[in-house]
Amino acid sequence: MTKILISKIAFLFLALAIFVSACQETDHEIAPVDETLVSPEVSAQFASLGFNPIDIEKVGENYLVGGDIIVTPKALENMKEAIVVGGPSGEQYRTYNLVSAPRVITVKGRSLSSTVSNALNLAIANYNNENLGITFQRVSRGRADITLRETGSSAGGVAGFPEGDGDPYPSITIYGGTSSYGLDVVKHVITHELGHCIGLRHTDWFDRSFSCSPPYDGVEAANPEGAVHIPGTNQSFDANSVMNSCFNSASTGVFSAGDKTALDYLY
Ligand SMILES: [Zn+2]
Repeated sequence: MTKILISKIAFLFLALAIFVSACQETDHEIAPVDETLVSPEVSAQFASLGFNPIDIEKVGENYLVGGDIIVTPKALENMKEAIVVGGPSGEQYRTYNLVSAPRVITVKGRSLSSTVSNALNLAIANYNNENLGITFQRVSRGRADITLRETGSSAGGVAGFPEGDGDPYPSITIYGGTSSYGLDVVKHVITHELGHCIGLRHTDWFDRSFSCSPPYDGVEAANPEGAVHIPGTNQSFDANSVMNSCFNSASTGVFSAGDKTALDYLY
């Protein structure tokens, strides 16, 4: 018992130490860990939904799950009961909540370098080229459904999932160091985070060792946000999915066949 507890605590600290670097493969700056502990009440709430509290950090008002996914208190309230996910082996997955379609989703950039700005246009084109029921439209001023900010010097990105009101998650952060990997990788990370905003989970959520190198937060819980298998997607690990947990310097930012099947099925 003691051994298990210690290893869980060690795992917690590991998870905290790498939370900024989720969605990418290299080591980066370590974020401050103060005020990231989840209260016992909220921890019990997550646990009752089948969630492993060790995977959760508190970030401001919200909770950070699996390193790069934000769950707001509102989203948590809208979580449905846990469902059984049968035999995860590498297919694409979605959250319970999706974006209402058809609709145009407006996206605004804030404080973007030229590389990130160009990559945002390419990521938007990725989705719009699929002729889905949702399309993304970049706007330069006024209110936007999603605001994408560039900040910090580490690499990777952070977004969240739809909160149950039919809207996409409203914000994406791209870390400034991502640009050092080149335009295709930035396109990949932004495409990935836009995927979270419309309800796509990590393709390898159940075993991040498929795409990540140590140290990484090994397994994401299926709940509370849900990990619903998308029919028709690959039955083996999809190494080319933009929705894999980690990227690498060779990431292309191009949808895999499984990604396209998933998007076509959902939207
Ligand atoms: Zn992600």
